[in-house]
Amino acid sequence: MSHHTETLVIGAGPAGLTAAYLLSKQGRGVTVLESDANQVGGISRTVSHNGYLFDIGGHRFFSKSKAVVDLWDEILPDDFIDRPRLSRIYYNGKYYAYPLKAFEALKNLGLGTSVACVASYLFARANPVKEPKNFHEWVRNQFGERLFSIFFKTYTEKVWGMSCDAISADWAAQRIKGLDLGAAIRDGVKRSLGLGKRRKAGGPVIKTLIESFRYPRRGPGMMWEAAAAKTVAQGGKVHLDRMVDSLCFDGVTGLWTVSARRGDGSRETYTAKHVISSAPVRELVNAIRPRPLSTFNARALAYRDFLTVALIAKSDKTFPDNWIYIHDPSVKVGRVQNFRSWSPEMIPDETHTCLGLEYFCFEGDGLWNASDDDLVALAKAEIGKIGLIDPADVVDACVVRQPKAYPVYDEDYAAHIATVRRELERDYPTLHLVGRNGMHKYNNQDHAMMTAMLTVENIRAGTRRHDVWRVNEDAEYTEAGLSGAQEALGSERLVPRKVA
Ligand SMILES: Cc1cc2nc3c(=O)[nH]c(=O)nc-3n(C[C@H](O)[C@H](O)[C@H](O)COP(=O)(O)OP(=O)(O)OC[C@H]3O[C@@H](n4cnc5c(N)ncnc54)[C@H](O)[C@@H]3O)c2cc1C
Repeated sequence: MSHHTETLVIGAGPAGLTAAYLLSKQGRGVTVLESDANQVGGISRTVSHNGYLFDIGGHRFFSKSKAVVDLWDEILPDDFIDRPRLSRIYYNGKYYAYPLKAFEALKNLGLGTSVACVASYLFARANPVKEPKNFHEWVRNQFGERLFSIFFKTYTEKVWGMSCDAISADWAAQRIKGLDLGAAIRDGVKRSLGLGKRRKAGGPVIKTLIESFRYPRRGPGMMWEAAAAKTVAQGGKVHLDRMVDSLCFDGVTGLWTVSARRGDGSRETYTAKHVISSAPVRELVNAIRPRPLSTFNARALAYRDFLTVALIAKSDKTFPDNWIYIHDPSVKVGRVQNFRSWSPEMIPDETHTCLGLEYFCFEGDGLWNASDDDLVALAKAEIGKIGLIDPADVVDACVVRQPKAYPVYDEDYAAHIATVRRELERDYPTLHLVGRNGMHKYNNQDHAMMTAMLTVENIRAGTRRHDVWRVNEDAEYTEAGLSGAQEALGSERLVPRKVA
């Protein structure tokens, strides 16, 4: 027997649940199918282990889009807290404020290295690589070789698992907009002198510099649990343990037949007029029948995976950072989250601390396949080396693996996505791609939500009035198109933006 719904949503992450919440609020039929058997939230879920709560990476709630912020407040009106933001970089046994403060960086690096950095910058300015093609060349042109190797190379290579020579220069240009060492020094001096906090009324909000952020008191999962509960209260359906692996379009009836597999091997079938998909593009296209020609392009899309080792310790050693970037090449860990600093409610026992050691990896590689015991042993050894807590104080631990945490922006991804998009929009106008892996866009919750919000508008209007591909990385959407979005972005980045 097959179930019928007007709109079928694949995935109960921020994008899928935003769509389902809004459609059900309008009284429209909607069913969400989520492959996870236990919880909603996708990459923005909150994991619970023996009462300790933690994120898949810490999730700040910040958006320039008022519509997104209003929706957060509507779904979770009473549970946001304001958190001070502090993050530092750990390199060569020393901590650096992030974004950098010039005098502190000078002191930590020492006069000799600092002078060498400036000299290497001046050399790069005088002898730039013409038409930089990769991340290394682009950053070297803007900052000099010396600073590239200290503050960019190791962390970037940990995150992406490939040489900075193989990462597209476009990625650097998008992420480190308009910044060079001169601008960084001016900003860093201001920050050292405490002049960096004030912002002219109406001036641009610089995301990397914001000093506080909002956070649900029990983590981002709280937002998405609430969205799912409200969707159901409004008449929508949210089903866990349903892995969608087949979508067939019937050109005569105009209906989709969607099939989902459950953990016990059983199958369910749904028919729907519209399908909204937040599933990874590679998997979605592979599941569509008739098989799209762009399956070849979708197969070429790559992902970077991620795992967190949460170490719970009985320790009075505390530090104020929400997270610390670990640039130091002597350890594999890329970032350490300090969950008490995100919200005290994440830690049920005041005498304990919970740190999340984040490792970037590829599904199937040595780290990903290592046993949980080996990963905990590695994390304990590395946290001891960094010195944030004493490994002997660790009383409990938990490993969480997150496949496809990052859609990879390699040289060809944009062309592949353009081909997939063109074919799907032409042949399947009632199939709507939304969200992070759903559109292969390396962006935050607010972007995922905005693409879902506009899609709901399109379904209501019965046309593709809004082009969701025009939502920019700050979740801003302008019908005027990219030039308008870029104008809005023009003065946005003054400092390198770290990956989320
Ligand atoms: C380390 C890290 C830190 C981050 N930090 C922040 C931050 O500070 N602030 C912020 O706003 N954002 C942050 N993000 C980004 C945020 O997690 C994502 O933007 C957001 O979760 C994307 O929502 P989504 O619904 O598009 O996708 P997802 O969260 O990936 O959800 C997709 C859902 O679809 C399900 N699914 C997939 N395929 C199928 C299928 N075939 N059948 C059924 N279900 C399926 C998945 O199980 C998942 O639940 C961070 C991300 C990472 C990796």
